[in-house]
This record gives sequence, structure tokens and C-alpha cells, in this order.
Amino acid sequence: MRRALVAGNWKMNGTKASAEALVLGLREGLSGCAGVDVVVCPSAVYMDRLQRLLEGSVIGLGAQNASEYGGGAYTGELSLEMLKEFGCAYVILGHSERRALFGETDAQICAKFVAAKSAGLVPVLCVGETLEEREAGLAFDVVGRQLDSVLKTQGAEALEGAVVAYEPVWAIGTGKTASPEQAQEVHAFIRARVLAESEQVANALRIVYGGSVNAANASTLFSMADIDGGLVGGASLKVDEFITVCQAAGR
Ligand code: PEP
Repeated sequence: MRRALVAGNWKMNGTKASAEALVLGLREGLSGCAGVDVVVCPSAVYMDRLQRLLEGSVIGLGAQNASEYGGGAYTGELSLEMLKEFGCAYVILGHSERRALFGETDAQICAKFVAAKSAGLVPVLCVGETLEEREAGLAFDVVGRQLDSVLKTQGAEALEGAVVAYEPVWAIGTGKTASPEQAQEVHAFIRARVLAESEQVANALRIVYGGSVNAANASTLFSMADIDGGLVGGASLKVDEFITVCQAAGR
């Protein structure tokens, strides 16, 4: 059975004080929560402090992005090795905000994915269609293309130990959640596409859903066969709400 994963994407939110309060609340509230890996992805500037506060807890740390380059003259970038030094074990890659607002391409996201794997971090590869693409009947084409940027260029083995996050762009931060059936349909599509290359990798691959997951809808989403947890934005900034989402994923 696949172990559930819930990752909180804090985006560019919070202050040092609110980030500390949030992890201390989560640390306490999640101490007895079993059967789920919980990760928080704060702004990288808080990573050092939060690593100390999370020491000995069940909560892991993730980054929201990282450079595909190992180091050098890349002003403003953060390398995976730098993030790793502060206990960062996961990295979100190809979030739709990075694709849409910062022009990240499939090829660049794949390069980041490869770099994350070789640095020993777990890449969380985000895929998902816009509303226009869904309405044009292109959801599977878009998700398939984004997945293939890694699957077809690196082989199914590259996805071993990685996570795929299906995040329909129209459901991110909008309060509009994909129905459990809509999400399951795309998750099953992703798993089948990987299965065509490797049954073993596909069966072990964690595919999490993201897009307005909250305390009220988490358990029905997570009850679907191919939904192995969530990537959570807004609701991950509220201690009680995020704890309820994590508990819903516990198996
Ligand atoms: C996200 O940004 O990854 C996300 C899923 O956000 P929200 O939960 O707020 O829709």
C-alpha cells in the first residue's frame, strides 16, 4: 500500500513569527497522527529556524522551488544542496504559478527534477490543466505532456521515490475543488501512463491532489483509489484546518 503524503505549500506568505507559531501548532497537533507523511514548504528564508523547531517531530521540510544548477553565477537562485543543508527533503517543482508567472518550461522543470533526484531530494512534480484547456477537452493532453517531460525523457525509473501532484489550475486558490471523481479520473490516467512504462513504479508512485483542499473536502478526495494525499495551499496556513486534512489522509 502507498503511504499517504500531505504537503503544505505556504507560498510567499507569513512572517518569521507566524511561521514559527504554525510549525509549533502543527508539531503538537500532529504528534499522534499516523499513516501519513506530513511536509511543510515554507519560504526558504525560514528553513533554518523551522528545521530547529521541527527536530524530532514527524513533520518534514520541503522547498517550493530550486535551481536546476549546482551553484555559481545564478543571481537570486537557491541550489538544492543549499536547501538540503537545512533539512529540506522535498521540493515542489513545476507549480502552475511558476509555469504561468515565471515562464518555467517543461524542459526546465525536467532539469530541476533530475537535479533534485541526484541531490537526494524528493521531487513533487506538479501537473495540471487550465480551465480553458479543460473546457477544450485538452486536460489529458496537457497533463500527459507535462508528465512525459520527465517520464519519456528520463524513463519510468526516474519517478521511483518521486511524487506527482495533480493540480488543476482552475482549482488552485479559487475555492473550486475538482470533484473526487474528476480528480480520480486524472490520477488514474497518470498512473496508467506510468504503468505503460513500468508496473512496479506506477503501483508505488504517490499521486497527490491539489486545488482548494480543505478540512471539509479532504476525506472524500483522499478516499479515491488513486489519490494518495494532497498538496495544500491556503488551508496549510491554518493550524487546525491543516491538521484535519493530514488526519483525513492517515491510513
Ligand atoms: C497550491 O497552490 O498548490 C494549492 C493547491 O493551493 P490551494 O490549496 O490554496 O488551492
